[in-house]
Amino acid sequence: MSVSEQILQQYRIVDGSLWLGGTRAAELAQRHGTPLYVYDGEAVVRRIDRLRDALPAELALHYAIKANPMLPLVQLMATHVDGMDVASLGELRLALAAGVTGADISFAGPGKRDEELEAAIQAGVILSIESPLQLQRAAEAGERSGKRPRIALRINPAFRLKASGMHMGGGPAPFGIDEEMAPEVLRQAVQLPVDLLGLHVYAGSQNLSAAHLIEAQDAIFTLAERLSVHFPQGLAWLNIGGGFGIPYFAGDQALSLSEVADNLHKRVAQLNQRLGQCELVLELGRYLVGEAGVYLCRVIDRKISRGRVYLVTDGGMHQHLAASGNLGQVIRRNFPVVLPERMPKQGEPSSSETVSVVGPLCTPLDLLADGVELAHAEPGDLVAVLQSGAYGLSASPVNFLSHPPPREILV
Ligand SMILES: *Cc1c(COP(=O)(O)O)cnc(C)c1O
Repeated sequence: MSVSEQILQQYRIVDGSLWLGGTRAAELAQRHGTPLYVYDGEAVVRRIDRLRDALPAELALHYAIKANPMLPLVQLMATHVDGMDVASLGELRLALAAGVTGADISFAGPGKRDEELEAAIQAGVILSIESPLQLQRAAEAGERSGKRPRIALRINPAFRLKASGMHMGGGPAPFGIDEEMAPEVLRQAVQLPVDLLGLHVYAGSQNLSAAHLIEAQDAIFTLAERLSVHFPQGLAWLNIGGGFGIPYFAGDQALSLSEVADNLHKRVAQLNQRLGQCELVLELGRYLVGEAGVYLCRVIDRKISRGRVYLVTDGGMHQHLAASGNLGQVIRRNFPVVLPERMPKQGEPSSSETVSVVGPLCTPLDLLADGVELAHAEPGDLVAVLQSGAYGLSASPVNFLSHPPPREILV
């Protein structure tokens, strides 16, 4: 079986068919056409509830819109999380349109344009300052807007989150102000017409190791405490980042949330004891939505080339770059792929064959799954790429080869 039990367990499977949000996946594909992204709202809410149960109540949960900016999903999120993290004017507008108040939004990202700074200041969002010049420009934008910017310094830490899908920190980076420079930049901030509220540290992404996340979080709390002396009003806000990963590939084990949460209980209590009232934020993207999304496409052709079976589908890398392995994977590995009308059964070796699932694009990069075990499929059959709720459509080159865009639905 090419998909782990841990991943399959999340799904409702009836008589070998995959169901999503109370409807058979095949029925959804019939109704809405393929290719189709389906996001299961209940699965998202369940994930948030489980997090809330585990995490300290003082820790605000933010959704990083970058992971999936589909408006109905962002609107659903708005009613279940405490705030959102945005990284562009477009994302800021989405968060505001979804009903999030400016005070519950933080805005990270290098290269913020004047227009973005001004809109953020108007809305009262917390700006994560990524460079000394950005600090100056934020202060100037505040003067033009007649409103004091609310700012946090984003720190590029000297440590890094080990074994992360994507590292941020530990070396030179366009993100954040180097830890070594932070005291000097904080001294400058105190002199400027800005409200200096706190710190933001984002150490990495897609991490499945509780031990490594704990190590990074400990380092972040220690760093925050050390830098807190540079805040004349005290440290009022601390965004500790996130980086919680989800299993994608063969051998991936789901993150042990309880271990990470236990440590956070200790560190949050300690920080509040030492520094007094400080608003704490955990920002998660993929962990909230990644497992709740499925990408459905339909087989157009089945061909055998020199012994290899190819299923050519109407979906591909132009709509799901991550599954094709071209979104930051060092070694290409397969996303979990299934036939939604012939779901693998537990402990039962289904009659299967080894196939490659490709898209319609004229490039060898257009590969959705390479050499996976699937039940026999023919043109007309559906293929589903699981774990596709984050960094799917919005992280894909949809215009490449000029095919029509896929639909997205929230069920
Ligand atoms: C991308 C990003 C996130 C979200 O990362 P996930 O891996 O989706 O949780 C959060 N914060 C910042 C600053 C980011 O750049």
